[in-house]
Amino acid sequence: MIIKTDKDTIETYLTDASNIKGSSSTVIIPENKEELIEIIKDLFNKNQNYIISAAGTGLTGGKVPEFDVIISIEKLNQILDIDKQRNIVRVEPGVTLNQLEELLSSYDLFLPPNPTEKNSTLGGNVANNASGSRSFKYGPIRNYVEGIEIILGNGHILKLQRGKVFANGNNLNLKTEENDSLKIEFQEIHTPKTKHSGGYFLKSDMDAIDLFIGSEGTLGVISEISLAVIKKPEKILGLLIFFLSVDNLMDFTDLIRKNSIINNKTSIEINNEIAARLIEFFDENSLKLLRSKYHQIPEDSIGAIWIEQEYTEANENEILEKWFEIISKYTPFADLTWVATNEKEHSNFIDFRHQLPLTVNEIISKNGMRKIGTDTAVPIHHFREYFFYLKEALKEIQMDFVIFGHIGDCHLHANIFPKNNAELQKALDFYEKIMQKAINLNGTVSAEHGIGKIKKKYLKQMIGEHGITAMKKVKNILDPKNLLGRGNLFD
Ligand SMILES: Cc1cc2nc3c(=O)[nH]c(=O)nc-3n(C[C@H](O)[C@H](O)[C@H](O)COP(=O)(O)OP(=O)(O)OC[C@H]3O[C@@H](n4cnc5c(N)ncnc54)[C@H](O)[C@@H]3O)c2cc1C
Repeated sequence: MIIKTDKDTIETYLTDASNIKGSSSTVIIPENKEELIEIIKDLFNKNQNYIISAAGTGLTGGKVPEFDVIISIEKLNQILDIDKQRNIVRVEPGVTLNQLEELLSSYDLFLPPNPTEKNSTLGGNVANNASGSRSFKYGPIRNYVEGIEIILGNGHILKLQRGKVFANGNNLNLKTEENDSLKIEFQEIHTPKTKHSGGYFLKSDMDAIDLFIGSEGTLGVISEISLAVIKKPEKILGLLIFFLSVDNLMDFTDLIRKNSIINNKTSIEINNEIAARLIEFFDENSLKLLRSKYHQIPEDSIGAIWIEQEYTEANENEILEKWFEIISKYTPFADLTWVATNEKEHSNFIDFRHQLPLTVNEIISKNGMRKIGTDTAVPIHHFREYFFYLKEALKEIQMDFVIFGHIGDCHLHANIFPKNNAELQKALDFYEKIMQKAINLNGTVSAEHGIGKIKKKYLKQMIGEHGITAMKKVKNILDPKNLLGRGNLFD
């Protein structure tokens, strides 16, 4: 194992993409699972708090230490095996999405949810129940976790396979590899019926594996993950559609969302009808930012929708006709729609999508301030109210912003770029307002980024004090000395 105590090296482990900064005097880097267990046992015996650090792309301060020892899983980065019969891939937690996608692509397979940040690790993705653009059709990463191995606070190993251990009502009985019996009597937590990544999954009769997905490094260290992956579709259609009116864009989105939900009957079925696997939004400001690099964006466009649909060569014309029939009813720019049907064209679309966070980051670093970004989602029937509330609130503060994201899931990111401290305060007030609105509309304060250290207050408002108490009770059984992931989810 590698132990680092020099200040300069430690400095690089103290923050994540949220830009909040913590303190620590030690980073320990296990080089294999046996060392990870040894480190955890040692910290347990010394009553020493610790935090797990992965790629640090988190946006909520989850890996930021509060004077804890940092365990970095950067060297646990091996893809262990791939079962080509069952399409299951087994990985160490430090494997990145980039690494996995490269391997899967050579087998014509893919991991469906598609989180944007490809440098993030699968351990981090599972710890946060990550989602992505394709979660509209395929759901969050939770749906693909077939097995996990967790090292508990005392260094004992818990192995769970999906479909094998269930709660009996609100009672879970877990058995470690060392034969410890852990009896957990829990209270159910009612979470929003939107895409959601905030707090423990606690439901009657639940599969035990779900408790650990999204637990943000507070219940144990994920040391191995088995993921279900699926065969790539024969063909994918990509369309980037530009609009002249917000109402038309919203009506179009409602229609294709509704059709896609009906037609995507099973997650892996290919369909002859309108059945998008992703529906993504770019607002007018996003297009303005991107226009300097992409001159072909129509001048008057107030927003764009990017869709992808899986299909077969045989039904290409039929599918294209169906899409264009609808598109031409909602926008005068139908002829200017960008179309992607081959790999090169799709990679141009992906570059276009990636240019947005890159351009946003350029502005933020030029301003020398932090970005304020929302990750809220609301139920479909409240989406319009939420969208126009968001736009109005942004108009009021008169600052630079973009809105983009997963409109199919009623999940948008509003990013604001303050130029000075006064603007930062205004942006924080706006953030507070939007969180309250999402909670009031029975939405979530975190659809995919987790709670970490910066959204604890809102999690409590969303699930109530009893929800927090229910989580703490579970944590006390699995981590009785309260050593792991201090400050994440709750105080
Ligand atoms: C530009 C950009 C785009 C993004 N897009 C998306 C997106 O589309 N979808 C999305 O969901 N997120 C997105 N994110 C957020 C981020 O990438 C995810 O939250 C990701 O899951 C974090 O992974 P990581 O490896 O960087 O984890 P870290 O940031 O290092 O850690 C995150 C949390 O997970 C815990 N953790 C990490 N590994 C383990 C482990 N092995 N065992 C137990 N706990 C562990 C840490 O303690 C911490 O609490 C984006 C971030 C950026 C900067």
